[in-house]
Amino acid sequence: MDKCVFCGENHFQPLFQIKGGDFKLLECKNCGLVFTSPEPNPEELKKYYSRDYYSFKELAAPPQDVILSFQQFVRRIFFKYYYGRDKKISFKEKLLLFFFQDRFGPFKKIFNIGKILDVGSGDGFFLSSAKSLGWEVAGVEPDAVAAKFATSLGLNVFAGTIEEAKYDSNYFGMVRLSHSLEHTYNPGGTILEAYRVLKPGGSIIISVPNFSGLALRLFRNKLDVPKHLFHFSPKTLKQYLLRCGFKDIEMNSYSVGIIQSGLPPFFQKKIFTPLFLVIDKMLNIIHLGDSFIIIGSK
Ligand SMILES: [Zn+2]
Repeated sequence: MDKCVFCGENHFQPLFQIKGGDFKLLECKNCGLVFTSPEPNPEELKKYYSRDYYSFKELAAPPQDVILSFQQFVRRIFFKYYYGRDKKISFKEKLLLFFFQDRFGPFKKIFNIGKILDVGSGDGFFLSSAKSLGWEVAGVEPDAVAAKFATSLGLNVFAGTIEEAKYDSNYFGMVRLSHSLEHTYNPGGTILEAYRVLKPGGSIIISVPNFSGLALRLFRNKLDVPKHLFHFSPKTLKQYLLRCGFKDIEMNSYSVGIIQSGLPPFFQKKIFTPLFLVIDKMLNIIHLGDSFIIIGSK
Protein backbone atom coordinates (compact mmCIF):
# COMPACT_ATOMS: atom_id res chain seq x y z
CA MET A 1 0.00 0.00 0.00
CA ASP A 2 1.56 3.33 -1.05
CA LYS A 3 -0.88 5.57 0.79
CA CYS A 4 -3.02 4.90 3.84
CA VAL A 5 -6.60 4.21 2.64
CA PHE A 6 -7.95 6.15 5.63
CA CYS A 7 -5.81 9.29 5.83
CA GLY A 8 -3.67 9.36 2.67
CA GLU A 9 -0.36 9.57 4.56
CA ASN A 10 2.53 7.25 3.76
CA HIS A 11 4.44 6.85 7.01
CA PHE A 12 4.12 3.29 8.24
CA GLN A 13 5.76 1.44 11.08
CA PRO A 14 6.14 -2.34 11.33
CA LEU A 15 4.29 -3.88 14.30
CA PHE A 16 5.16 -7.58 14.15
CA GLN A 17 5.64 -10.58 11.90
CA ILE A 18 2.86 -13.20 11.79
CA LYS A 19 4.24 -16.52 12.99
CA GLY A 20 4.73 -19.24 10.38
CA GLY A 21 3.74 -16.99 7.50
CA ASP A 22 5.10 -14.50 5.04
CA PHE A 23 3.06 -11.64 6.39
CA LYS A 24 3.63 -8.82 8.80
CA LEU A 25 1.44 -6.04 10.13
CA LEU A 26 2.15 -2.38 9.46
CA GLU A 27 0.54 0.59 11.17
CA CYS A 28 -0.11 4.05 9.76
CA LYS A 29 1.76 6.45 12.03
CA ASN A 30 -0.78 9.16 11.38
CA CYS A 31 -4.18 7.51 11.94
CA GLY A 32 -3.36 4.12 13.47
CA LEU A 33 -4.88 1.98 10.71
CA VAL A 34 -3.18 -1.45 10.71
CA PHE A 35 -2.87 -3.54 7.58
CA THR A 36 -1.50 -6.88 6.41
CA SER A 37 1.66 -6.65 4.33
CA PRO A 38 2.37 -7.63 1.65
CA GLU A 39 -1.23 -7.39 0.46
CA PRO A 40 -2.16 -10.77 -1.06
CA ASN A 41 -3.88 -10.56 -4.45
CA PRO A 42 -7.36 -12.13 -4.87
CA GLU A 43 -5.93 -15.26 -6.55
CA GLU A 44 -3.53 -15.87 -3.67
CA LEU A 45 -6.26 -15.23 -1.12
CA LYS A 46 -8.47 -17.96 -2.57
CA LYS A 47 -6.03 -20.52 -1.14
CA TYR A 48 -6.94 -19.37 2.35
CA TYR A 49 -10.71 -19.51 1.99
CA SER A 50 -12.35 -22.89 2.15
CA ARG A 51 -15.88 -23.59 0.96
CA ASP A 52 -17.07 -24.09 4.54
CA TYR A 53 -16.03 -20.55 5.47
CA TYR A 54 -18.36 -18.74 7.84
CA SER A 55 -20.41 -17.14 5.10
CA PHE A 56 -22.09 -20.55 4.79
CA LYS A 57 -22.14 -21.43 8.45
CA GLU A 58 -25.55 -20.14 9.32
CA LEU A 59 -27.84 -21.71 6.78
CA ALA A 60 -25.77 -24.83 6.17
CA ALA A 61 -25.36 -25.71 9.86
CA PRO A 62 -26.79 -29.03 11.01
CA PRO A 63 -29.95 -28.53 13.12
CA GLN A 64 -28.40 -30.50 16.00
CA ASP A 65 -25.77 -27.80 16.58
CA VAL A 66 -27.15 -26.68 19.95
CA ILE A 67 -25.00 -23.57 20.40
CA LEU A 68 -25.74 -22.29 16.92
CA SER A 69 -29.48 -22.94 17.35
CA PHE A 70 -29.40 -20.99 20.61
CA GLN A 71 -27.50 -18.13 18.94
CA GLN A 72 -30.12 -18.04 16.21
CA PHE A 73 -32.89 -18.04 18.83
CA VAL A 74 -31.36 -15.03 20.58
CA ARG A 75 -30.72 -13.36 17.27
CA ARG A 76 -34.39 -13.68 16.33
CA ILE A 77 -35.36 -11.85 19.53
CA PHE A 78 -32.73 -9.23 18.75
CA PHE A 79 -34.07 -8.75 15.22
CA LYS A 80 -37.63 -8.47 16.45
CA TYR A 81 -36.70 -5.82 19.01
CA TYR A 82 -34.23 -3.69 17.04
CA TYR A 83 -35.32 -4.23 13.45
CA GLY A 84 -38.97 -5.26 13.71
CA ARG A 85 -42.17 -3.29 13.52
CA ASP A 86 -43.32 -4.76 16.82
CA LYS A 87 -40.82 -3.79 19.52
CA LYS A 88 -42.69 -5.66 22.26
CA ILE A 89 -40.75 -8.49 23.84
CA SER A 90 -41.46 -10.58 26.94
CA PHE A 91 -39.59 -10.28 30.23
CA LYS A 92 -37.70 -13.52 29.56
CA GLU A 93 -36.67 -12.27 26.15
CA LYS A 94 -35.52 -9.02 27.73
CA LEU A 95 -33.28 -10.94 30.13
CA LEU A 96 -31.73 -12.90 27.29
CA LEU A 97 -31.15 -9.70 25.34
CA PHE A 98 -29.51 -8.11 28.35
CA PHE A 99 -26.90 -10.84 28.47
CA PHE A 100 -26.31 -11.25 24.75
CA GLN A 101 -27.05 -7.84 23.30
CA ASP A 102 -23.36 -6.87 23.21
CA ARG A 103 -22.91 -9.52 20.60
CA PHE A 104 -25.73 -8.45 18.34
CA GLY A 105 -25.63 -4.73 18.29
CA PRO A 106 -26.45 -1.34 19.66
CA PHE A 107 -28.47 -0.59 22.75
CA LYS A 108 -29.86 2.88 22.35
CA LYS A 109 -30.75 3.09 18.73
CA ILE A 110 -33.76 1.17 17.45
CA PHE A 111 -34.22 1.16 13.71
CA ASN A 112 -37.27 2.06 11.66
CA ILE A 113 -38.05 -0.28 8.82
CA GLY A 114 -36.83 0.90 5.43
CA LYS A 115 -34.26 -0.10 2.82
CA ILE A 116 -31.23 -1.99 4.05
CA LEU A 117 -27.95 -2.87 2.34
CA ASP A 118 -25.82 -5.66 3.80
CA VAL A 119 -22.22 -5.39 2.59
CA GLY A 120 -20.65 -8.85 2.69
CA SER A 121 -24.04 -10.54 2.93
CA GLY A 122 -22.63 -14.10 2.79
CA ASP A 123 -25.33 -16.72 2.41
CA GLY A 124 -28.05 -14.14 3.08
CA PHE A 125 -28.99 -15.12 6.64
CA PHE A 126 -29.27 -11.54 7.88
CA LEU A 127 -31.07 -10.35 4.75
CA SER A 128 -33.65 -13.17 5.01
CA SER A 129 -34.34 -12.22 8.62
CA ALA A 130 -34.64 -8.50 7.82
CA LYS A 131 -36.88 -9.23 4.82
CA SER A 132 -39.22 -11.34 6.94
CA LEU A 133 -39.59 -8.33 9.28
CA GLY A 134 -40.65 -6.07 6.41
CA TRP A 135 -37.39 -4.46 5.30
CA GLU A 136 -36.63 -3.98 1.64
CA VAL A 137 -33.29 -5.74 1.36
CA ALA A 138 -30.19 -5.72 -0.89
CA GLY A 139 -26.78 -7.24 -0.45
CA VAL A 140 -23.32 -7.15 -1.98
CA GLU A 141 -21.09 -10.17 -1.69
CA PRO A 142 -17.71 -10.57 -3.41
CA ASP A 143 -17.86 -14.37 -3.17
CA ALA A 144 -19.73 -15.37 -6.34
CA VAL A 145 -20.84 -18.75 -4.93
CA ALA A 146 -22.30 -17.21 -1.77
CA ALA A 147 -23.96 -14.44 -3.83
CA LYS A 148 -25.55 -17.03 -6.12
CA PHE A 149 -26.80 -19.03 -3.15
CA ALA A 150 -28.42 -15.92 -1.62
CA THR A 151 -29.96 -15.03 -5.00
CA SER A 152 -31.45 -18.53 -5.20
CA LEU A 153 -33.30 -17.73 -1.95
CA GLY A 154 -35.00 -14.83 -3.75
CA LEU A 155 -32.69 -12.16 -2.28
CA ASN A 156 -31.39 -9.21 -4.25
CA VAL A 157 -27.62 -9.73 -3.98
CA PHE A 158 -24.94 -8.20 -6.20
CA ALA A 159 -21.79 -10.31 -6.72
CA GLY A 160 -18.94 -7.85 -6.19
CA THR A 161 -18.09 -4.83 -4.08
CA ILE A 162 -20.28 -1.92 -2.96
CA GLU A 163 -18.37 0.40 -5.32
CA GLU A 164 -19.05 -1.89 -8.30
CA ALA A 165 -22.76 -2.15 -7.48
CA LYS A 166 -23.29 1.57 -8.28
CA TYR A 167 -26.40 2.17 -6.21
CA ASP A 168 -28.22 5.51 -6.35
CA SER A 169 -27.15 8.22 -3.92
CA ASN A 170 -29.29 8.85 -0.82
CA TYR A 171 -31.09 5.54 -1.24
CA PHE A 172 -30.71 3.26 1.80
CA GLY A 173 -31.90 3.76 5.37
CA MET A 174 -29.15 1.50 6.68
CA VAL A 175 -25.87 0.05 5.46
CA ARG A 176 -24.55 -2.84 7.52
CA LEU A 177 -21.06 -4.35 7.45
CA SER A 178 -20.84 -7.30 9.80
CA HIS A 179 -17.32 -8.70 9.89
CA SER A 180 -16.76 -7.83 6.27
CA LEU A 181 -14.82 -4.52 6.39
CA GLU A 182 -11.59 -6.29 7.43
CA HIS A 183 -11.82 -8.44 4.29
CA THR A 184 -12.17 -5.59 1.80
CA TYR A 185 -9.25 -4.23 -0.23
CA ASN A 186 -10.32 -0.67 0.38
CA PRO A 187 -12.16 -0.11 3.67
CA GLY A 188 -11.76 3.66 3.21
CA GLY A 189 -13.53 3.63 -0.16
CA THR A 190 -16.15 1.17 1.13
CA ILE A 191 -17.17 3.49 3.98
CA LEU A 192 -17.21 6.55 1.72
CA GLU A 193 -19.44 4.71 -0.73
CA ALA A 194 -21.72 3.65 2.14
CA TYR A 195 -22.02 7.34 3.05
CA ARG A 196 -22.95 8.25 -0.51
CA VAL A 197 -25.72 5.62 -0.83
CA LEU A 198 -27.22 6.35 2.60
CA LYS A 199 -30.13 8.75 2.94
CA PRO A 200 -29.58 11.73 5.23
CA GLY A 201 -30.42 10.43 8.69
CA GLY A 202 -29.59 6.85 7.62
CA SER A 203 -27.32 4.64 9.73
CA ILE A 204 -24.11 2.80 9.08
CA ILE A 205 -23.50 -0.16 11.36
CA ILE A 206 -20.11 -1.82 11.32
CA SER A 207 -18.78 -4.71 13.36
CA VAL A 208 -15.16 -5.87 13.17
CA PRO A 209 -12.58 -7.72 15.29
CA ASN A 210 -11.13 -5.42 17.97
CA PHE A 211 -7.42 -5.01 17.27
CA SER A 212 -6.95 -3.32 20.63
CA GLY A 213 -9.00 -5.93 22.55
CA LEU A 214 -7.35 -8.44 24.89
CA ALA A 215 -7.96 -11.56 22.78
CA LEU A 216 -6.11 -10.35 19.69
CA ARG A 217 -3.22 -9.09 21.81
CA LEU A 218 -2.88 -12.52 23.39
CA PHE A 219 -3.50 -14.70 20.34
CA ARG A 220 -2.01 -13.25 17.18
CA ASN A 221 -2.94 -16.35 15.18
CA LYS A 222 -6.57 -15.25 15.70
CA LEU A 223 -5.88 -12.12 13.66
CA ASP A 224 -6.76 -14.34 10.69
CA VAL A 225 -4.00 -13.01 8.46
CA PRO A 226 -3.98 -12.83 5.46
CA LYS A 227 -7.78 -13.14 5.10
CA HIS A 228 -8.07 -10.05 7.26
CA LEU A 229 -6.38 -7.37 5.19
CA PHE A 230 -7.04 -4.59 7.72
CA HIS A 231 -7.21 -4.46 11.52
CA PHE A 232 -9.17 -1.77 13.35
CA SER A 233 -9.16 -0.24 16.78
CA PRO A 234 -12.32 1.63 17.88
CA LYS A 235 -10.46 4.95 17.95
CA THR A 236 -9.11 4.71 14.39
CA LEU A 237 -12.44 3.64 12.93
CA LYS A 238 -14.36 6.32 14.80
CA GLN A 239 -11.97 9.03 13.57
CA TYR A 240 -12.41 7.86 9.99
CA LEU A 241 -16.22 7.80 10.24
CA LEU A 242 -16.15 11.38 11.53
CA ARG A 243 -13.85 12.34 8.67
CA CYS A 244 -16.33 10.90 6.17
CA GLY A 245 -19.12 13.03 7.65
CA PHE A 246 -20.88 10.54 9.94
CA LYS A 247 -22.23 11.88 13.21
CA ASP A 248 -23.87 10.61 16.46
CA ILE A 249 -21.32 7.83 16.67
CA GLU A 250 -21.94 5.10 19.24
CA MET A 251 -19.68 2.19 19.91
CA ASN A 252 -19.64 -0.88 22.10
CA SER A 253 -17.36 -3.83 22.51
CA TYR A 254 -18.56 -7.44 22.40
CA SER A 255 -17.01 -10.89 22.24
CA VAL A 256 -17.49 -13.95 20.09
CA GLY A 257 -15.39 -16.31 22.24
CA ILE A 258 -11.91 -15.78 20.79
CA ILE A 259 -10.20 -16.01 24.19
CA GLN A 260 -11.60 -19.46 24.90
CA SER A 261 -10.90 -20.74 21.39
CA GLY A 262 -7.32 -19.41 21.57
CA LEU A 263 -6.45 -21.36 24.73
CA PRO A 264 -5.17 -24.97 24.78
CA PRO A 265 -7.81 -27.70 24.03
CA PHE A 266 -8.42 -28.43 27.74
CA PHE A 267 -10.02 -24.99 28.21
CA GLN A 268 -12.11 -25.32 25.09
CA LYS A 269 -14.43 -27.88 26.73
CA LYS A 270 -18.05 -26.69 26.77
CA ILE A 271 -18.10 -26.89 30.58
CA PHE A 272 -15.85 -23.80 30.68
CA THR A 273 -17.96 -21.77 28.26
CA PRO A 274 -20.11 -20.08 30.97
CA LEU A 275 -16.93 -18.96 32.74
CA PHE A 276 -15.59 -17.40 29.53
CA LEU A 277 -18.96 -15.76 28.87
CA VAL A 278 -18.54 -13.94 32.19
CA ILE A 279 -14.90 -13.03 31.43
CA ASP A 280 -15.96 -11.76 28.00
CA LYS A 281 -18.81 -9.75 29.50
CA MET A 282 -16.34 -8.00 31.85
CA LEU A 283 -13.91 -7.30 29.02
CA ASN A 284 -16.74 -5.86 26.94
CA ILE A 285 -17.55 -3.38 29.69
CA ILE A 286 -14.01 -1.99 29.60
CA HIS A 287 -14.00 -2.02 25.75
CA LEU A 288 -11.43 -4.82 25.54
CA GLY A 289 -13.74 -7.47 24.06
CA ASP A 290 -12.60 -9.37 20.98
CA SER A 291 -14.86 -7.39 18.61
CA PHE A 292 -16.59 -4.05 18.48
CA ILE A 293 -19.59 -2.53 16.80
CA ILE A 294 -19.83 1.09 15.76
CA ILE A 295 -22.84 3.03 14.50
CA GLY A 296 -23.03 6.42 12.87
CA SER A 297 -25.67 8.55 11.15
CA LYS A 298 -25.41 10.47 7.88
ZN1 LIG B 1 -3.60 6.58 8.06
